[in-house]
Amino acid sequence: MRVEIDNVGFVYNDGAERPHRALASVSLTVPSGSFHAVVGPNGCGKSTLLRLVCGLNRPDEGSIRFVGDRRFQHPAAMVFQTPRLLPWWTVERNVGTGVEFADRPPGMKERVRDFYTSLVGLAGLGRRRPDQLSRGQQSRAGLGRALAHEADVLLLDEPFAALDAISRRRIHEQLERLWMADGRTAILVTHDIEEAVMLSDRVSVMSAIPGPLVETIEVDAERPRYSLSSTHPGIRSAVIQTWDALERSAK
Ligand code: ADP
Ligand code: MG
Repeated sequence: MRVEIDNVGFVYNDGAERPHRALASVSLTVPSGSFHAVVGPNGCGKSTLLRLVCGLNRPDEGSIRFVGDRRFQHPAAMVFQTPRLLPWWTVERNVGTGVEFADRPPGMKERVRDFYTSLVGLAGLGRRRPDQLSRGQQSRAGLGRALAHEADVLLLDEPFAALDAISRRRIHEQLERLWMADGRTAILVTHDIEEAVMLSDRVSVMSAIPGPLVETIEVDAERPRYSLSSTHPGIRSAVIQTWDALERSAK
């Protein structure tokens, strides 16, 4: 499924204070099956953009369209910046939220739930409740829940921020493997430039002031990326270009 974001603008207007413009004139096309990262400073509107793509808010200007054939049952699934697990459900039930009420053959829901619980490295912890997990484990459960809600477009809002470096590398590998195998379109929001480049086909830079995307950088490196070093020329070049674009946007 291709995602077409065309000239999108958004203003928060919840009545509590004066309206706040979060996005203006954002255009971006994410080809079907590609992995796209969006980076930018705190408060530049990254989460807002994902909320619009997910359909949690509607754009005030412009449009967002999903174009192409559906491969999965759901159009979009989101990993939120905070894990947002149901505290009274076990980890495996949280991961299986998306299939809990779905019409699936006997045994299938459990298989989906167990597969993704294990994929995010939580096998053996499935019977715990979220408050019995570390913050990093909670964020892995949040990722598992979004993956298990099998959707054409996977939206990831800084999903790895709470993970230590080793867990992060491991989960990058799992995510890339899964993504390569099943053709989901992924949009990752992060402020970690190396992470954005390692995982993505393209990286778009947002500026602090609402406006068009500053630049989109192509990452010229083969896959799978998890076996590549950060000194790979294509990776290094994309990291430098992304930093340059971010610095230009801050001036
Ligand atoms: P990011 O994810 O890039 O850090 P956000 O998309 O969360 O940024 O927020 C963009 C801007 O919109 C920020 O200035 C933030 O303070 C503001 N904002 C976010 N949510 C609301 C809201 N519900 N009401 C008013 N302003 C908001
Ligand atoms: Mg955010």
